[in-house]
Amino acid sequence: MSSSVGRENIGQMKATGSQGRKLGNGFLEYQGIPGYSCYHTVEETYEQAARLAEDYPDLVEWVDVGDSWEKTNDSTKGYDIFVLKLTHSDIQPADGEDKPKLFLSCAIHAREYTTAEFCLRFGMHLLDGYVSGNDADSTWILDHHEVHLMLITNPDGRKKAEEGTFWRKNTNNKNGCSSSNHIGVDLNRNFAYKWKCCSGSSRYACASTYRGSSAASEPEVQALQNYVADVFPDQRLNDNNLTSPTNKNATGIAIDVHSYGQAIIWPWGHIKKEAPEHIGLQTLGRKMGYFGSYKPEQGSTSYQADGVSGDHYYGTLGVAAYALELGTEFFEKCDYFESTLLSDNIPALVYAAKVARTPYLTPAGPEVHGVSVSYLSSLVREDEFITVTAEVDDTRYNNVRGVEPSQNIASCNYYIDIPPWMDGAIAIPMSALDGNFDSTSETVQASIDTSTFSVGTRYTIFVQATDDDGNVGAVSAVFFEKKKIQKIEGTIFSGATGQGGPLQDGTVTIGAYSTQTDTSGKYSFQIPDGSYNSTIQAPSH
Ligand SMILES: [Zn+2]
Repeated sequence: MSSSVGRENIGQMKATGSQGRKLGNGFLEYQGIPGYSCYHTVEETYEQAARLAEDYPDLVEWVDVGDSWEKTNDSTKGYDIFVLKLTHSDIQPADGEDKPKLFLSCAIHAREYTTAEFCLRFGMHLLDGYVSGNDADSTWILDHHEVHLMLITNPDGRKKAEEGTFWRKNTNNKNGCSSSNHIGVDLNRNFAYKWKCCSGSSRYACASTYRGSSAASEPEVQALQNYVADVFPDQRLNDNNLTSPTNKNATGIAIDVHSYGQAIIWPWGHIKKEAPEHIGLQTLGRKMGYFGSYKPEQGSTSYQADGVSGDHYYGTLGVAAYALELGTEFFEKCDYFESTLLSDNIPALVYAAKVARTPYLTPAGPEVHGVSVSYLSSLVREDEFITVTAEVDDTRYNNVRGVEPSQNIASCNYYIDIPPWMDGAIAIPMSALDGNFDSTSETVQASIDTSTFSVGTRYTIFVQATDDDGNVGAVSAVFFEKKKIQKIEGTIFSGATGQGGPLQDGTVTIGAYSTQTDTSGKYSFQIPDGSYNSTIQAPSH
């Protein structure tokens, strides 16, 4: 039985790659987890990811970053641990700079079915948007940023959970637990930072939150810690991040994806105290929580946990770190996953990918969304102006746990082809549609003269807004391609042989464009290249 569930949401994708830049029908054939056919198994996930890397070598890498516990103990068993790395490798940042990075680890807890598939779908959403040529945001994210997806962090445990058990931990049986159904280390209590510090994990080897025999004893956690330390610079201002702030300009976001709970959680988890970067973490948390109404809060608000991923990433590197609790149950139903979970959360992660350059700063700024270009909707004018319209909003936060401050929009600019963070970027002001920037949300517009644009070239129009406190928000973009314009003109005479003389006020229609003939029966059009149906209609009397 092959799965047909799960193909619609990402469009018609197919991993063929040979016929131009189109993902086609998306997934290779897959069976899925029994009873949950939308979720690729471990082997199917690996096969699909490897295929993407084969088909799109300039955009995708599938990197082996470590071994599972089973494989570490017996190289004929277990699994490799991989990261799906997405970025356009031909596009390099300015000298001395790195591309901003978003890192996701998924399926660290085995029974949380939806997490691995969600991360795979997020990656495919970006890739599909890129290769289809339809999505300017996915395109600039993959051109200028990097997205790293550790799709299955705990493959040994996940394989057990695929048999229908609520397996959570890895499968390490060397710690003295004599109940075969309860062996394993809780990988999300095994991280080195503040390991076993604060009664937020268990010392009992059979317990569901067993922390392991020593800090980072588990190969899966070692792989994670090493990879994250490799990908992100240490941006703490000193090595005690418990009390000392991080560089406010720190770059990078690391998110550990779990289920369930519909929440977005940030450090600290091991103590009730707020992290030095609490405000910045909270603002991005409230932002990500906006899209699917996910509750944003500090990890230890609900319960204290030590040796956890987010505390380790933030505590050792200063990187903005989160745990995302997806959905409503461990074995999330495919209907809910396809209809709700994806659309609740993909926009949140697209937003995170956009602000990965400065996650402690950018989310306080106004969000630009709904960027559109009106072009050739009626008769083309000589001056070839287009109108760019966007929504700018400084209120899109989830405010169920305290209210995020909003400011009036102060200004909004657009940039053509060179995004605002690059040398040579030219900011051109847009105006508020209602005449004044005097509100926390505005519709903005600009009229752009395209007379110097090249025909058949795709331009990217980036839009970015600033609020009254000087917070500069995330960029959104739209594509624009100028079409070749044909001039079509002629003269219409009335009567079968033209014996009636020039036809005045006749209506000539070509496709969606129409015009009137003048007193000498003449008409003239400028329309974009294409094939059209045309009609001529005499005036009615
Ligand atoms: Zn979990």
